[in-house]
Amino acid sequence: MAEDTQTTDQGPRPIVPFLRLEPKPHLVGKKCTCGAVFVDSRRVACAKCGADGRFSEVALSNHGKVYVFSVVHQSFPGIKTPYISAIVDLPEGATVRANLVDVDPEEAEKNPGKVFGMPVELTTGVVGKDREGHDVVVFSYRPARA
Ligand SMILES: [Zn+2]
Repeated sequence: MAEDTQTTDQGPRPIVPFLRLEPKPHLVGKKCTCGAVFVDSRRVACAKCGADGRFSEVALSNHGKVYVFSVVHQSFPGIKTPYISAIVDLPEGATVRANLVDVDPEEAEKNPGKVFGMPVELTTGVVGKDREGHDVVVFSYRPARA
């Protein structure tokens, strides 16, 4: 990875490039000329229409619905389990994989019907600092409050 020694920005940094923190935290997707929207896609061609590379960047809604989820019981050392990994449908037609927080994993396993289709909203948190001392910001989803 290239180091940018020119940067003077001391603010927090998102952990993934499709998470933006300003003016408030939101995700950005790539939108094809055919209307399909992708999140975190490294494709050069659209998965829907096959056109190559005519993507524009679009800000995505902070609200979505849980499409599927699974409760993760085993993960890397240092990662607390169990937790819920979900795929969230966004109104723009994109899907994004993220952790679901503020939902009890045991309850979710017992009553999965309460979680499928659940309205959720984006939330962010700081997980630590990078080597240059910037706060590192991650995103997840929680049950929508509004
Ligand atoms: Zn397309």
